[in-house]
Amino acid sequence: MATQETPGTTGTTITSPEALDDALAPLAAVLGDRLLTPSSAGFADAAEVYLGGPERTPVAVARVRNTDEIAAVLDVARRTGLPLGVRAGGHNLARHALVDGGIVVDLRLMDGIEIDTEAGVGRAQGGALAGAYVAAAGEHGLATGFGDTGGVGLAGIALGGGIGYLSRAHGLTVDNVLGAEVVLADGRVVRADADENPDLYWALRGGGGNFGVVTRLDLRLRELPVVTGGMFVWPADPGVLAGVLAAFAQAPAELSGMVNVMVAPPLPMLPAEAHGKPVVMALACFTGSADQAEAAYAPLRALGPLHDSIAEIAYPEMFAGGGGPESGLPGDARTGFLGAGAWAPDEAWAAAAIKAVLAAPRGVAAVNLRPMGGAIGDVDAADTAFAHRDAAWMVTVQGLAQDLDGASALGEWVSAASASLGVAGPGYVNFMARATEQDVRDAYPGATLDRLREVKRTYDPGNLFASNHNVKP
Ligand SMILES: Cc1cc2nc3c(=O)[nH]c(=O)nc-3n(C[C@H](O)[C@H](O)[C@H](O)COP(=O)(O)OP(=O)(O)OC[C@H]3O[C@@H](n4cnc5c(N)ncnc54)[C@H](O)[C@@H]3O)c2cc1C
Repeated sequence: MATQETPGTTGTTITSPEALDDALAPLAAVLGDRLLTPSSAGFADAAEVYLGGPERTPVAVARVRNTDEIAAVLDVARRTGLPLGVRAGGHNLARHALVDGGIVVDLRLMDGIEIDTEAGVGRAQGGALAGAYVAAAGEHGLATGFGDTGGVGLAGIALGGGIGYLSRAHGLTVDNVLGAEVVLADGRVVRADADENPDLYWALRGGGGNFGVVTRLDLRLRELPVVTGGMFVWPADPGVLAGVLAAFAQAPAELSGMVNVMVAPPLPMLPAEAHGKPVVMALACFTGSADQAEAAYAPLRALGPLHDSIAEIAYPEMFAGGGGPESGLPGDARTGFLGAGAWAPDEAWAAAAIKAVLAAPRGVAAVNLRPMGGAIGDVDAADTAFAHRDAAWMVTVQGLAQDLDGASALGEWVSAASASLGVAGPGYVNFMARATEQDVRDAYPGATLDRLREVKRTYDPGNLFASNHNVKP
């Protein structure tokens, strides 16, 4: 498709409050009280995201309802050079939706979901949440895999990759994106799929919010009336942890999940003596028959869990545990990929992981391990902009500080723990709290970044969509 020049956004032409009012006037005319500025009632709530952190105050939050309204916001940002943020579920670890002194396109009113049982396709607007989609599809015994948290934006997770309870069985979320509707930087609305704008379709599947505002995603649905899933908890011991990781690595592709090494919160289902002690907590989801599930879980049960809630449940119940702690707290995370095939970390690595968690500052801290392989590895690395296809494990060192003052200690711990565990580039864009140029290179290794830049030059040559793990045109 043809390229179109858009003015750069590196500097704004707005130099006074009056000029800002003039610039926003056309938007106020279109959006009315859905254009929130710092003096509007409800602005503080609208300008908040899941994670807390240093103050970032937008000049306006535009609560859009359709593609025309989005195009109007993009037009103002393009003409004025005001930075632009895009907000859906608000769960981004780098808090990219919040742009200091800029305009936020808030997609939360565009949360429609349609489950087309005949076509086997779920259609969701760009502001829908993963949990709402999982529940709607689940009513028909159908599913598309996202992550583990219902409050995460469906497009936000899908654009970065999407690893979760069904990834080894059905692939990442990006592997189940059939097409998208996108508002481009110049305001045009285009379709991206295997036939129309295939370069954009490729880039959207891992390249994040770099290419436009996604207003609709079409997703492959699969029949999944029940799964066998739930939670295991063991006392943290290097032998147990290495055993748990080996069991996941050698399990059939029907088993997906994650393993957290962490200090046990005071959960009622855990024996009181485990509270405050290091534990290995696994969330697991098996999509095959009950008999196959029994066999797949046997090696994990043989390791003597303190807690075992694995049962046959409807898939949406996997999301019943909610989204982790209600936040507003500063967070940090570093992610990397380890091993290949059915490899699993050994006892020495497991001991280092437990030691790292015990050294964490006050707050919430974990080493999170997600088994790859299965359907994730069946896709060629060049087929999507998510290119980390051969690894055995995605490992994330992550935490929440107790308050803003604790953020730097948390950051130091994340860096030190990552280094001690070999968690370094390449990384997964959805779990990267930092966004330096090196982080972007880590997220898009090899030829992927070059190809993304080519697509960026075609669809967003002025880099209007810059508040993300930015692919510079
Ligand atoms: C508690 C928690 C649990 C998580 N669990 C998982 C998990 O299991 N698996 C996993 O893979 N990830 C997981 N994530 C990471 C999550 O996928 C990313 O943080 C993602 O960016 C969140 O999207 P959002 O819409 O909620 O965030 P927002 O902050 O609203 O958006 C993030 C960015 O995504 C882009 N974006 C979002 N929607 C659109 C759109 N419609 N069009 C264009 N760009 C858009 C924009 O660049 C935006 O700034 C988790 C995060 C948290 C905090």
